[in-house]
Amino acid sequence: MTKIHNFSAGPCILPQEVFQKSAEAILDFNGSGLSLLEISHRSKDFVAVMDEARAIIKRLMNLGDDYEVLYLQGGASLQFAMVPFNLMKLESGKAAYTDTGTWAAGAIKEAKKLGKVDVVGSSKEENYSFIPKDFKIGSEYDYFHCTSNNTIYGTEMKTFPKVDTLLVCDMSSDIFSRVIDFSQFDLIYAGAQKNMGPAGTTLVVVKKEILGKSGRDIPSMLDYSLHIAKESMYNTPPVFAVYASLLTLQHLENNGGIAAAEKNNIAKAELIYNEIDRNPLFATYCKVEDRSLMNACFKLTDESKKEEFDAAWKAAGINGLNGHRSLGGYRASMYNALPLESVQVLVDVIKNLK
Ligand SMILES: *Cc1c(COP(=O)(O)O)cnc(C)c1O
Repeated sequence: MTKIHNFSAGPCILPQEVFQKSAEAILDFNGSGLSLLEISHRSKDFVAVMDEARAIIKRLMNLGDDYEVLYLQGGASLQFAMVPFNLMKLESGKAAYTDTGTWAAGAIKEAKKLGKVDVVGSSKEENYSFIPKDFKIGSEYDYFHCTSNNTIYGTEMKTFPKVDTLLVCDMSSDIFSRVIDFSQFDLIYAGAQKNMGPAGTTLVVVKKEILGKSGRDIPSMLDYSLHIAKESMYNTPPVFAVYASLLTLQHLENNGGIAAAEKNNIAKAELIYNEIDRNPLFATYCKVEDRSLMNACFKLTDESKKEEFDAAWKAAGINGLNGHRSLGGYRASMYNALPLESVQVLVDVIKNLK
């Protein structure tokens, strides 16, 4: 069988070692004779998994005790609502958002249900082909929300604005892919299924001092403070997803951490973008300076080559290359676990199209 090169946008490729070890844990967890799937989440062995998963996040992010780490459910999509519930003031609540893609727009939609939202920067009118910059966010806002990487449109924020309010970021599709100063954020969230594990759990990292100020009676499952008090065990956590996420983060930490991942990610992105820029049969959609390291979106300049190109990449064992339905074309998602070798295979297929 041909080796599969998995460019899927999420859920996506994880380190082979993670698949192996999580498969072992399903059959026999820690030599206990029990499956990871049948033990109590309150058991000593699982509590240790949750504790270590939360601790490793803090180490990787280089954050201190003023931050709390949560493993929740409901995906990044539930965070679109949890953020305003916890941070937007009950009366006169007002937040600033940038609209940089489908997910950012989803976050805006939910926040509008709870208060006033000002969209302070948007690339919507230009099909989300760039990252808006140069805006000022004053202290009249409860918080500012941005999306670091726009998974569908292939744009990524290279820097984050200095704001006079809380800085909140959806990092679902580029978390742990590059070195950034995490301490500039007050709240970070990410669905695990793109760079830090399988689907089923969501990371939230929050600065404790910002909580408890919205004046809202927050439904228990949406209340960060309650989840913090219960150490992410208010209700039954998604034990398998948390365990596989721990394995993914251990793999990252044992292989040079975020700095090493960034180096690989830059090499992969350069490999594909250089070829697309050189090759007159292909083009990208977005502004060069805003191109994502994680999701390279591109198209054929001559649609009559589509059938031939599609057959060629499929024959090379490439999976998950079709662009999102809202953009079309192709999307090479190159998350941490995707080897450079897979990008080389894709680049060779691109080069061979005549
Ligand atoms: C995938 C994605 C989401 C949605 O995540 P779910 O966990 O499916 O809710 C939100 N934001 C970004 C940036 C994403 O890439």
